Amino acid sequence: MRPRIYYSIEECGENELNCRGYGHRWDRAAKFGQRTPLWGTRHSLRCDQCSSWRHDLMNSRGVLDPSARGYELADEYQFAAQFSRQEARAELLRRDRRRERAGRRPNLELVS
Ligand SMILES: [Zn+2]
Repeated sequence: MRPRIYYSIEECGENELNCRGYGHRWDRAAKFGQRTPLWGTRHSLRCDQCSSWRHDLMNSRGVLDPSARGYELADEYQFAAQFSRQEARAELLRRDRRRERAGRRPNLELVS
């Protein structure tokens, strides 16, 4: 499938902007069809906001091999990643302010 063509940061999804501006929300996951590593254990994480993957190799003491790290970035996140983290946060702030001007609350989880 060809990735969608985007032109501006306004077209970025909110989840992808959150990942770009504040970092991914990784959760441990296993991906079907991954090769068994020659040593160590494959340690995969999936972002529950943008569906990107991060793959590492880990030894029995929990040490990750930095040279073995790989990513599978979701198409929508790849578009957001062309903007700086600062630009992503500023765009999220613009959207919050636009919602407030329209009489709606920002798209934030309220925690008591
Ligand atoms: Zn993400």
